[in-house]
Amino acid sequence: MKAGTDDHHRMQEQLERENQALRRQLERLLREARSNEDKMRRFDQLEHRLIGARSIVELLRLLLAEYKSAFGIEFVGLALVDRDLETARLLEAELREDPLLRQGLRLLPSAAPLQQLFGEAAPPRPRLGAFDAECHGALFEGAPRGAIASVALLPLARHGALIGSLHFGSRDAARYEAGTGTHFLERLGGIVGVCLESALNQERLKLDGLTDGLTGVHNRRYFEHRCQIEIAQARRYRHPLACMFLDLDGFKRINDGHGHQSGDEVLRAVGQAIQGQLRAGDTIARYGGEEFVVLLPQTPAQHAREIAERIRQSIAARPVPVPGAQQPLAVTISIGLAMLSAEPSGREAGELAAGLVAAADKALYRAKHGGRNRVVFEE
Ligand code: GH3
Ligand code: MG
Ligand code: MG
Repeated sequence: MKAGTDDHHRMQEQLERENQALRRQLERLLREARSNEDKMRRFDQLEHRLIGARSIVELLRLLLAEYKSAFGIEFVGLALVDRDLETARLLEAELREDPLLRQGLRLLPSAAPLQQLFGEAAPPRPRLGAFDAECHGALFEGAPRGAIASVALLPLARHGALIGSLHFGSRDAARYEAGTGTHFLERLGGIVGVCLESALNQERLKLDGLTDGLTGVHNRRYFEHRCQIEIAQARRYRHPLACMFLDLDGFKRINDGHGHQSGDEVLRAVGQAIQGQLRAGDTIARYGGEEFVVLLPQTPAQHAREIAERIRQSIAARPVPVPGAQQPLAVTISIGLAMLSAEPSGREAGELAAGLVAAADKALYRAKHGGRNRVVFEE
């Protein structure tokens, strides 16, 4: 009988211990669930904002800055495949002026570096684990040495192809560990991929309405918009801004002698030749008919004169082959050049833009009267 009571006691004690352990486990699970719920809520909020982003720049800022603060991560970076430099062109001004984008965004000429990161798995899966300077150093370029202990790399794919990757770097070695669940991250990767593609498409459409269909350079509408931005920048930072007005010489003769299509071919070739002499931050637009206009930010007069001269020479030196003509057609161009006045003025950017173009046009008029195929600088 005694033995039976002892057994009973032992069993009760054991059950109690087990119950306590279970309660502790339950509490831990609840804590985890609450923290997951909290994380989920922040995640949901961010997702909504990503989906609601109205422009590619807003989207990139959300990814590069907000994610960091919402989830307490030290480093966030984004790589995007940009085979034909289209994204570079779309984001040109922002990449130049926004340190956040300049530091956090990398544009890749091909998907090869991403394939190396994510391997052959289809669909590609997030990679979590310890930071490895050799593999990951380039992804977190701005980070001080030793600042990142663990990383999460999220592949961004659309229609089965890698279009980019999102990189999170943490000081905490335990934050991202190989083999832990990646449900959140996979979902984020999916959403970011769609949001990016759609924002880039939107931007492409916008740009389409600002591109000259014949030559592929910007159109006058874009130029007018851009000219005001460049003028505001030049005034704010006291940078010199040069403007060129370019007009083909005797173009009517080319049209009359070789047909309108040959004329079109010449316009395309000249547009490309001008573009070929410019830097990434410069603007070229077809202003109308056979006239182009160019803006050179942060360019002093002497340098602008050299660029104009280089453009003039490159066109004169390269006759344009056109269908039907025995020989390539010799083409020349006249260029009027003017600088935005460095004097302070109370005038609006729009007014200053009109004045700048008018001054370049006046110089062009003098170039034509001086005999064509020359550069004239409006002092
Ligand atoms: P100048 O040396 O004084 O500039 O003489 P020009 O013949 O170039 O100037 P003019 O203004 O007399 O002629 C411009 C011509 O450009 C007339 C017009 O038919 C032609 N043109 C305008 N737009 C286009 C176009 O999109 N395609 C083609 N092929 N020709 C165009
Ligand atoms: Mg002309
Ligand atoms: Mg003209």
